[in-house]
Amino acid sequence: MTTYISEALRRQVIERAKERCEYCRVHEDDRLFAHEIDHIYAENHGGETQVDNLCLACSECNRFKSSDICSLDPLTNEIVALYHPRADQWKDHFRVLEGIIEPLTPNGRVTVRLLYLNKPETIDRRRLLIESGRYPMD
Ligand SMILES: [Zn+2]
Repeated sequence: MTTYISEALRRQVIERAKERCEYCRVHEDDRLFAHEIDHIYAENHGGETQVDNLCLACSECNRFKSSDICSLDPLTNEIVALYHPRADQWKDHFRVLEGIIEPLTPNGRVTVRLLYLNKPETIDRRRLLIESGRYPMD
């Protein structure tokens, strides 16, 4: 389902995210395809098209996340909510070590796995961005 998102709302989400994917943190200028507006809680789960339920996601993260809101923790096999860009702080759930996004929490773990944040080619790309100062390490 695709709901119309006004240009003003779209702009607000993009500016709040500083043009970075709110899951993998890559800047829109460093991806081939434009970033997309993601419903954090998808519309088919009742998520609304309002600023607190929207985030900026690269096309890859958005494709893998799809309408999911939780996943099975690979360590405990329990259902765990995905990282929530509005309710959670990125640094509480992830850290970057040598180009790899390491999860720090169960929420981080399910998000890293479901969104395939550490594919080999993604890690290579991330390392190049880090070396050139184009990836946020703070
Ligand atoms: Zn991303």
